[in-house]
Amino acid sequence: MLIAGNWKMYKGPAETAEFCVDLKRRLDDLDAVDVAVCPPFTSLAVAVQILAGTEIAVAAQNVHWEREGAFTGEVSAPMLRELGVYGAIVGHSERRQYFGETDATVAKRAKAALEAGLSVIACVGETETEREAGETKDVLRRQVSVLEGEDNLVVAYEPVWAIGTGKTATPELAQEAHAFIKGLLDVPVLYGGSVKPENAGELLELPDVDGALVGGASLDVESFAAICLSATHS
Ligand code: PEP
Repeated sequence: MLIAGNWKMYKGPAETAEFCVDLKRRLDDLDAVDVAVCPPFTSLAVAVQILAGTEIAVAAQNVHWEREGAFTGEVSAPMLRELGVYGAIVGHSERRQYFGETDATVAKRAKAALEAGLSVIACVGETETEREAGETKDVLRRQVSVLEGEDNLVVAYEPVWAIGTGKTATPELAQEAHAFIKGLLDVPVLYGGSVKPENAGELLELPDVDGALVGGASLDVESFAAICLSATHS
């Protein structure tokens, strides 16, 4: 069971330090649940420093496929490794929607990160229009197919219509999508999309849900810790 918090473009180093000190105290004796926080690039170093020696891992929100080069605005896997970062998210729907990320670039990012020794959370999920058009399975098949052969990664199923909207997939719908993804690729699958302390329990107890990727609710230390604790009962 993995609970990862995607902070998006929130929390500079000072707020990150405060959050990590508090989270460390709250999750001191948490067993059997892996926890990761994913701060913005500029806050990674302080998170790594404060969480060193704990079971809480630090991951980035993106990673480039080249080791170095003329790629303005990008950060490579060896650079993240040098900081002590453990993994990276790739293919988040906000990257696909606003920054031209495609299945091909997601696959390149995932492959390079894994080769460099980072753990990877690769995000997939259909938009509302795709779901309404009955295309969910086709979309998931297409997005997952580029990750084939990368057995070490974790997939996050994040229906785009449920991200930051307060709309959560019903347990039935989440279970169906997770089982479908696992049928394509034998990897752990996290659920993401408006997960909060009030709905985490019913989602995390589903047979094919192996954890959660939490956005908004991971920004508040009390609610993120509550979600991590609810995972211990699942
Ligand atoms: C996310 O950003 O990955 C996410 C799932 O966001 P939220 O929990 O806010 O819907």
